Amino acid sequence: MADFAFKVKTVEPITLLSKSERKRKLMECGYNPFGLKSRDVYIDLHTDSGTGALSQDQWAALMLGDEAYSGSRSFDELAKSVETVFGYTKFIPTHQGRGAEKILYPLLVKKLKEGRGHHQQDKKSVFISNFHFDTTAAHVELTGALALNCVIREAYDTQTEHPFKGNMDTGKLKAEINERGADCVAGIIMTVTCNSMGGQPVSMQNMKDVYEIAKHYDIPVIIDSARFAENAYFIKQREAGYGDKSIQTIVTEMYQYGDMMTLSAKKDPMVNIGGILAIRDDMDLYRQVEMMCIVNEGFVSYGGLAGRDIQCLAVGLLEAVDENYLRARIRQVEHFGRLLKEAGIPIQTPVGGHAIFIDAGAMLPHIPAHQFPGQALANELYLEGGVRCAEIGSFLLGRDPETGEQKESECELTRLAIPRRVYSNEQLEYVVDVLTRIKAKAETIPGYDFEYEPALLRHFLARLLPIT
Ligand SMILES: *Cc1c(COP(=O)(O)O)cnc(C)c1O
Repeated sequence: MADFAFKVKTVEPITLLSKSERKRKLMECGYNPFGLKSRDVYIDLHTDSGTGALSQDQWAALMLGDEAYSGSRSFDELAKSVETVFGYTKFIPTHQGRGAEKILYPLLVKKLKEGRGHHQQDKKSVFISNFHFDTTAAHVELTGALALNCVIREAYDTQTEHPFKGNMDTGKLKAEINERGADCVAGIIMTVTCNSMGGQPVSMQNMKDVYEIAKHYDIPVIIDSARFAENAYFIKQREAGYGDKSIQTIVTEMYQYGDMMTLSAKKDPMVNIGGILAIRDDMDLYRQVEMMCIVNEGFVSYGGLAGRDIQCLAVGLLEAVDENYLRARIRQVEHFGRLLKEAGIPIQTPVGGHAIFIDAGAMLPHIPAHQFPGQALANELYLEGGVRCAEIGSFLLGRDPETGEQKESECELTRLAIPRRVYSNEQLEYVVDVLTRIKAKAETIPGYDFEYEPALLRHFLARLLPIT
């Protein structure tokens, strides 16, 4: 069946620099593609965040934005879309997903502590997630709480086939709650899809089971929703009983297994900037969210966004659950994954929603973890073909804060993130060719060492040197 869902209307030129220029550019940015200028990149698979192509309806919506400081028409449009898609009526817009996290997590910890007796204030609070996204973990930790991950074991094995590798291990979840005491768990965070595990989906059954456990212990469930629509598509494809349901019906059910949600609108809703924090019932919590929104983001009807961004997001939310679009989206990622597998490139299987993860440790076995095989492969992709992508492994993981020793990641990965509605299959086939050429000379590729290593979140600004 043909699955074309759109055609191109606006174009942005790209050029491939010569090999010697690419060599120079990579050297100049300290062998860290984060530092490359986008004009020097040919195919940019660095991230799927904020990089999607807007639709004609979204471009039109930008012109309709109402820039009133309060009570804007654009806010009303967004409220309609939020209620239609998620069924939640109490919400604020935020400048990004992390804006929502910054407001919500301290309030949940405060609420938990208020529920405890005076003599119990020192007990450590925790959040338990299938897997905390990095900014989510950072905001949890900034409140003084602990961020625990309880994803199922299969998620860590790139070669095991499992339809829902993003699932929470419910046995482990219960064990953690019982061990720490329910009065120490400030919230359970379901990340859909599970970004850090390669965009792997969470099943409806798992969302339901986790919600039942949470209600038993009276713990709130937060749905971290960046890729909620891709998750719903996987449920439709892979979970018994959902094949005939519409994406919207599936999303509506998913959000009954949550009490609140944070959303990075830069992912599935395909806007360049924006986020949402929504709450199902808790009016008291919502009142506090409103107050903190004004302090941090701006008045509750604009939350750090221009009216036109809000209007554009109102449209993007509806387009995110459009099944024709989603089919084209997921099939493109699947097609890309299939070609890579046929070319003998080791990738995580099954492929997730928004990215392909290459097992760089398997592809470059001669490079030890502390010389960063994932980063070596990312650099080679730029040298060989002008392709930019990101390392997800020991380079990203960093050092043990206590001993200063390099931590060793469970897997050394290179992530090819696919922006939405941006590249053609032919362009992705070019990336397959580049990787095939790299594979043929894999043993000649060097590992890396630091020239400059920042103390915090080093992967953004670090400079490296190839080890000769
Ligand atoms: C991107 C992302 C966030 C943070 O959102 P920003 O818009 O980048 O601030 C949070 N959670 C998940 C799962 C994400 O993918």
